Amino acid sequence: MGETSPAFAEPLPVGQLYFPSRKKFRQAFEGIFKRRFFTNHGPLVTKLDQEVAGYLGVRHAVCVTNGTVALMAACKALDLSGSVIVPSFTFPATVQALVWAGLEPIFCDIDYNTHCINYKQVLPLIRNDTSAILGVHVWGRPCDTDSLDRLSGKTGVKIFYDACHAFGVSHKQKKIGNFGELEIFSFHATKILSSAEGGCITTNNDELASRLRTIRNFHSAYTEAVSPLRINGKMTEAQAALALISLDQHQAHVVNNKKQWLRYVQRLDNLPGLRIVKFNDRETQNYQYFVCQINENEFGISRDQLLQVLQAENIQARRYFYPAVHRLEPFASRFRDLMLPETEKLCREVIQLPLGGRCSLSAVDKVSKTICRARYHSAKLKKYFSHKSLLISQ
Ligand SMILES: *Cc1c(COP(=O)(O)O)cnc(C)c1O
Repeated sequence: MGETSPAFAEPLPVGQLYFPSRKKFRQAFEGIFKRRFFTNHGPLVTKLDQEVAGYLGVRHAVCVTNGTVALMAACKALDLSGSVIVPSFTFPATVQALVWAGLEPIFCDIDYNTHCINYKQVLPLIRNDTSAILGVHVWGRPCDTDSLDRLSGKTGVKIFYDACHAFGVSHKQKKIGNFGELEIFSFHATKILSSAEGGCITTNNDELASRLRTIRNFHSAYTEAVSPLRINGKMTEAQAALALISLDQHQAHVVNNKKQWLRYVQRLDNLPGLRIVKFNDRETQNYQYFVCQINENEFGISRDQLLQVLQAENIQARRYFYPAVHRLEPFASRFRDLMLPETEKLCREVIQLPLGGRCSLSAVDKVSKTICRARYHSAKLKKYFSHKSLLISQ
């Protein structure tokens, strides 16, 4: 402790941030300029729709501007009305997209062990006006799709999924993208498949796919099915070019992520007070996130204090998700009395550590060492928090 320079000279970002080489980027863009076809269902977007569907083994992929628009278009294609049951332990876009689509969210607590919603928590929340359940495969760990399907069969309430964390992940030996009525993905830069901004909707239902293709643009030439309301959700050729390169390199990115993920496990697995969020190794994973839970009593300092220690070392770890969506406007003032104990507990404990294109095994070692030292010095750190220096690396 008391060092004057942080563990990292430059901030170490938390997200995936996999981008193509400048050469590949230039090659892809040459074609766009040659064809002078920049948007409106160009050849690259058409190819991406096909390749994503092929990769996930699903009948249809409909690529759009971003994951949030994918959710909004999904709500319209499913013809939802009234209320939709959704977890509060998610990224704000999951819930805000429902509101943009004119729907009322009913917040559901999550299962503390899986971090996802389950049948038991959803069932008592179904109201007369409930038209759907929007599950989130948090960290790429799938919701219990079987029991949610049964619930849907019994009640007629539709199920769809926010699969932004789960591109390339398998579940019951099928790729995520095949579950519920439809699933949506984000191709944001912080996700493993990246077009900087981008997203898509996947479904095995032909009619839904036609409706989605109509909804994503205002051009009458592209009307495949009747939809009263449409939006401009068209992906550009530039986005598709990036996504196609990213899809080509997907396997390499997963391998790289897995190496970093396993190194974290090697370094941190038995640290008292720190619990790693693990995956089912009989299924394919994307290792998009390394997430752990900090138990303040056993670790010695709180998650928020650990975060401050890491930030002082230029490690951009983050509280993800924090606060829970029902504690954020526009919901916080309306849902002041709503208690979601499992969600709130998890929001106090969870921390996401850097992993991906801008990270490395040696960076993982340094981050892990900082965490181990924070644990070791926790008693001293508790006192240090009122002082100015939190640097404890080297
Ligand atoms: C990233 C993300 C979104 C939003 O996707 P955008 O492409 O940024 O609009 C929605 N839900 C979850 C769970 C996400 O991680």
